Amino acid sequence: MVSGAVDAGLDTVGFTDHCSLTAVMRAEKLLWNRNFDRTYEQRRAALDILDDRHDITLQDGVEMDYEPSLEADIERFLDTAGFDYAIGSVHYTDGREVFPRESFAEMSPAETRGFVDTYYDTIETLIESELFEIVGHVDRIEWHPALRGLTTESHHRQVAAACANSRTVPEINASHVTSDPAMYHPSRPFIDVLREYDVQFTVGTDSHEPGAFGPRREALETLLAERGVDPVDPVGL
Ligand SMILES: [Zn+2]
Repeated sequence: MVSGAVDAGLDTVGFTDHCSLTAVMRAEKLLWNRNFDRTYEQRRAALDILDDRHDITLQDGVEMDYEPSLEADIERFLDTAGFDYAIGSVHYTDGREVFPRESFAEMSPAETRGFVDTYYDTIETLIESELFEIVGHVDRIEWHPALRGLTTESHHRQVAAACANSRTVPEINASHVTSDPAMYHPSRPFIDVLREYDVQFTVGTDSHEPGAFGPRREALETLLAERGVDPVDPVGL
């Protein structure tokens, strides 16, 4: 991955392995290997070795699953681990994941809208917790075919108002641009509302393989120029 970042011309790359302290989604934690709370020191040692072998700056980060009931545990873990920065993400809420493998087929339209409201309430609580430098892929539910289009301007304003009063900044995430060039998190209208509240942004390619850096970097630069966004370094926020 470091070589991929170098090949893409990046001068800095952050690694943010998935990490979950959950008890309620225990099976998913094991299935999707979100066990970084047990292995982060090994990755840190590997980053130290790679740091000597490359000119690129390596950032030692983490992407944490956020659940409101886990705040004390997350705070303790982040204090102990001492990462350069932490992304907080809502990957599940209300007992359901937000990924396309989750089915919402048996839910009524009103129940589905209620789930979306709960998702954004959880995002707001995440931002208010001040635990994280970054809130990850803030409108992630828009990637789910059953939830797409259910994010409203009122959700945009709810999140933007929370960000305006927090150190936590949203990332502009390019994880889907190779399959859908128009798809960013947050969406363009969402970015515009966040800017209205003077919210700053960081950027994330969300690369899971080395070849992803290049095209996603280009896509991010295009969007930043189009929207007039000058991203911030999450280290020290
Ligand atoms: Zn994520």
